[in-house]
Amino acid sequence: MTAFPEGTILGYPRIGRRRELKKAVEAFWAGRIDEQELERTSAELRATTRERLASLGLGRTDSAIPESFSYYDQVHDAAVTVGAIPTRFEGLRAEDGTIGLAAYFTIARGEGERAPLEMTKWFDSNYHYLVPEIGPETVFSLSSDRLVREVAEGIAAGFVTRPVIVGPVTLLALAKASDGAPEGFDPLTRLDDLLPVYVELIARLKAAGAEWVQIDEPALVSESLPASVAQLSDAAARALAVLGGATDRPSILVAAPYAELGEVFPVLAAAPVEAIAVDLVRGGLPTAAAGLEGKSLVGGVIDGHNIWRGDLAAAYDKLEALRGLGAAAVAASTSTSLLHVPHDVSEEAKLDARLVSWLAFADQKVEQVVALARGLGQGREAIAAELAEASAALEDRLSAPGVRDGLVRQRELVDADFSRITYEERETAQEALGLPALPLTTIGSFPQTGDIRRARAQFGRGELPQEDYEDFLRREIDSVVSLQEELGLDVLVHGEPERNDMVQYFAENLDGFAVTENGWVQSYGSRATRPSILWGDVSRPAPITVDWSAYAQSLTVKHMKGMLTGPVTILAWSFVRDDQPLGETANQVALALREEIADLEAAGIEIIQVDEPALRELLPLKQADQPAYLDWSVASFRLSTGGAAAGTQIHTHLCYSEFGVVIDAIRALDADVTSIEAARSRMEVVTDIAEVGFDHGIGPGVYDIHSPRVPSTSEIEALLRRAVAEIPTRQLWVNPDCGLKTRGYAETTESLRNIVEATRRVREDINVTA
Ligand code: GLN
Ligand code: ZN
Repeated sequence: MTAFPEGTILGYPRIGRRRELKKAVEAFWAGRIDEQELERTSAELRATTRERLASLGLGRTDSAIPESFSYYDQVHDAAVTVGAIPTRFEGLRAEDGTIGLAAYFTIARGEGERAPLEMTKWFDSNYHYLVPEIGPETVFSLSSDRLVREVAEGIAAGFVTRPVIVGPVTLLALAKASDGAPEGFDPLTRLDDLLPVYVELIARLKAAGAEWVQIDEPALVSESLPASVAQLSDAAARALAVLGGATDRPSILVAAPYAELGEVFPVLAAAPVEAIAVDLVRGGLPTAAAGLEGKSLVGGVIDGHNIWRGDLAAAYDKLEALRGLGAAAVAASTSTSLLHVPHDVSEEAKLDARLVSWLAFADQKVEQVVALARGLGQGREAIAAELAEASAALEDRLSAPGVRDGLVRQRELVDADFSRITYEERETAQEALGLPALPLTTIGSFPQTGDIRRARAQFGRGELPQEDYEDFLRREIDSVVSLQEELGLDVLVHGEPERNDMVQYFAENLDGFAVTENGWVQSYGSRATRPSILWGDVSRPAPITVDWSAYAQSLTVKHMKGMLTGPVTILAWSFVRDDQPLGETANQVALALREEIADLEAAGIEIIQVDEPALRELLPLKQADQPAYLDWSVASFRLSTGGAAAGTQIHTHLCYSEFGVVIDAIRALDADVTSIEAARSRMEVVTDIAEVGFDHGIGPGVYDIHSPRVPSTSEIEALLRRAVAEIPTRQLWVNPDCGLKTRGYAETTESLRNIVEATRRVREDINVTA
């Protein structure tokens, strides 16, 4: 057996430093390049990554470099590799039963009447994975050798890399029952049928030259999955007994990041595998357990979620403590894959140099791991300089101006009133809005066309004067408003053309944030976001959205919805300071939004949406931590909206359908109307809503905006009828799942037209007077 390397990372960003993968994949989808060219580009990207990681200090041939590329999503990769695809896509297999690249994308994105896989958030991150659909009918068989070829590709270039694959327990625990499965079917019951395919896969990886394989099993740390910890841990024991017992295999690293393993740790310690990676950023030190003697323990001490350079000495201390557990060896690593952070802070020429000295993006984190590994090998003294430098940067950060701005702190919570009058009274006051039954609205953004992006880029480069840019945006708003009037929507939006991103826009207009140029992080598939850096105390120097909303309102007699991003989402989609509790930071943002709402009301806006799509995402994986989170997150939302008048209708929007999981929090938000995603899961969520007796306004989405597919009128009508059957009409709103910014105008207009027509048909039947 080859020893585990002293330093490694659990995964590296795959999109490319300049989003090369996004560009190539989208060109392939658009038919501008063929499959060979796409494969060439991705092979180049992988080659660049291996070389880069080696030049940063990871070993070329000791399996330190993870082979963690993905064209779209690592869960989808695993599902396709083992052939776990829905029946409706079975026809896409090649004659020999394998699933090629075009089929892989089609299953991810849907085609015609065949709906794509659902998408949901990966643990407590802002990354979305595709939810596998697995039933009793699923036939597992090795259906893609992509990972095997990538290992071989590395070998040919002189590398021995470590292939990474989502493990069998996590794959099944994250899957949903297929359409054909009997009521209550649990995909985890298919574990024994699935394992032989993993055994075959790891044998193939070995034959290709892999000495280690990394099996990612983050499901084992979660208490937020349908399966209990006991079920997961039992499944892990069985799975690892089979994989570890295979005779023809590479050494196995089991990685279980994102939180503490707790009682599952001894199960892994006892399993016949060679290494275990634990998250020591989110979790504490595990306790010694039987079976560690022959194993390597990989300490995830460098934060894979955040971009702070952090306390390197404390990280090193954790590794020393880990040594006390009696394992054969200890290695340094990142806590999670570096998928969640941008490539390289040295690409940020425009960021303040002092801020830069506090930061570590993926490449800097690799260097930190390499330093820690050197410390493990040669002793603490060998890295004294690195440790001292990191400590100095940390001290500088904590004492820098703006980090603790006296003025903001005095204003905090002074006169904050968190609650509005009762919902009944508000409902009565809001009758004056004169809305029809099943009011039609959208979630806020309209397509961000090439023209909009070009104008913004020109303005950013100083090539387009501010006046001209604002003129351009007003013309854009004119056309979005007239399109909505023509379609017959009831509550209009201005379309958000001035925003490149719903969080970054606010970050740019609030004090306490910095914005990067190239800090892209994959969100899902070919999509990436550029999280802002919330480094200091937050305040609002001037109104942000008021002029745009007021202008849009001036164009129509219908209601124009003001559009804000809520405090939890602003935190969740930024890299947030880690030197104070998140709740404190959230309240600073909330106060700024509260001022914005007052200004919107003064400008005549009567409906205001405060988006909180990330409320679920930040929910801690451990049940014990959830109540405190829900307390501060709900409080910050109520602090931001609590000043609104009774007649002002407050909307919120959440981007997922797991309504049941956070229902108490949604109720506590006390928004007058909540819109949620529901189309991909075909309205399953209305059953949850009906069961818990939610009585405020609710808009379950009828159009899956993550797919280019246009839903037909009859399909939408069926969804609406399902909603009407289960939820009182007076509560129901009609809207798409989410904002339309990623869609084109052709499909958006057609889909909205179908939504309006479907609503007209359903309104006729429900026969209620407006
Ligand atoms: N208002 C935002 C938009 O329409 C909401 C997006 C989101 O929920 N992610 O784009
Ligand atoms: Zn959304």
